[in-house]
Amino acid sequence: MIENLFSWSKSTDEKFQDCPRKFYYDKYLSWGGWETSSPRRTRAAYVLKNLKNRWAWKGERTHHIIEQVLKSMRRGQPIPPETALSNLTQMMREDYRSSRERKNWQDPKNNVGLFEHEYKKNIDDAVWKRVHDEAAACVRHFYGSDLFKELAAEDKSGWLMIEDLEEFQFDGAKIYVKLDFARKKDGVVEIIDWKTGKNGSDNSLQMGVYALFASEKWKLPLERVRASIFNLTSPFPVLAPEPLSVELIEKARGIMSKSIQSIRELLEDPVKNIPKPVEAFAFARRAEICDRCNFYRICEKYC
Ligand code: SF4
Repeated sequence: MIENLFSWSKSTDEKFQDCPRKFYYDKYLSWGGWETSSPRRTRAAYVLKNLKNRWAWKGERTHHIIEQVLKSMRRGQPIPPETALSNLTQMMREDYRSSRERKNWQDPKNNVGLFEHEYKKNIDDAVWKRVHDEAAACVRHFYGSDLFKELAAEDKSGWLMIEDLEEFQFDGAKIYVKLDFARKKDGVVEIIDWKTGKNGSDNSLQMGVYALFASEKWKLPLERVRASIFNLTSPFPVLAPEPLSVELIEKARGIMSKSIQSIRELLEDPVKNIPKPVEAFAFARRAEICDRCNFYRICEKYC
C-alpha cells in the first residue's frame, strides 16, 4: 500500500491558497482513487483531480514534446521538426477525442480529461484549433532558436535533467520540484524553464525553490547556479536570466515554512498526514475560483 506522505510543491501551495477544501479533495479524498474498486466519491475526486483546462493541456503537451525531442537528441537520435509537430498534433487529437468521449472516467491514468468537456463549456472549434496552433508554434520556435542549435551541437554529458521529478527535505516535508531542463556548463548549473503561456507572472517563488533545490542537490554556492526563463511563445525566444540571490532564497524559505505550517494546522496527525474532518477545510470565498475548479461537481458547497 502506498503511503500518503506529507509533501509540498508550489502547486500544492496554490491549491491551498485558492481553497482549502479543494486542497482536501486533491490530497486526501482522491487518495486511492486510481483503483477502479475505490469508493465512488474517491474515484470521482481522483478523476476530477486529473482534469486539465485547455491552457494547462497546451503547456503540458508542449513540454512533453520538447522532453521527447531533447531525450532523443541525447540518445543521438534527433527528431526532425516535422516529426515532432506531427507527434504533437496526433497526441492532442487523441487527447481531445478521448476527453470528449469521457474515457478518462474509465482510465484516468491513460486518458486526458479536459475541464471544458467535463463541465460542458461551450468552446468553439476555432478556439480548440488555436490551442493546438499555439502549442505547435511553441515547438516551432524551440526548433528555430539559437538555444536549440547550441543544445544540438554541444556535448550532452553535461545535461543533468529533463523533466525529472525530484524531491528534497524542508521543515520535515518532502518538497517536489520538476525542472524542465538543467545542464552543467563551464562549472555552472543552468536551469531552464520553458514558458508556453503569457509571461508576466511572478516567478520568484519558483526560482527560489529551484535555487534551494540546486544548492542541496549539487552542493553548489549560489554564484554557480543560474536560472532562466525561455519563453516559447516568442518567435525568437532567448534565455532570460532570473535573478537568484540569498534574499530570494530566504523569501522562498519563509513562504514555504508559512505554507507548510498553515497546512499542518489542518491535520489531525501531522506525522501520519491524517487530516482533520473535512469541515475544517474552508470553502473558497470567491465564486470565480469555484467557476474554474475541477472539483465543482462533487463539492459540498454546491451539492
Ligand atoms: S468548488 Fe469552490 S469551494 Fe468547492 S472545492 Fe472548488 S474552489 Fe473550493
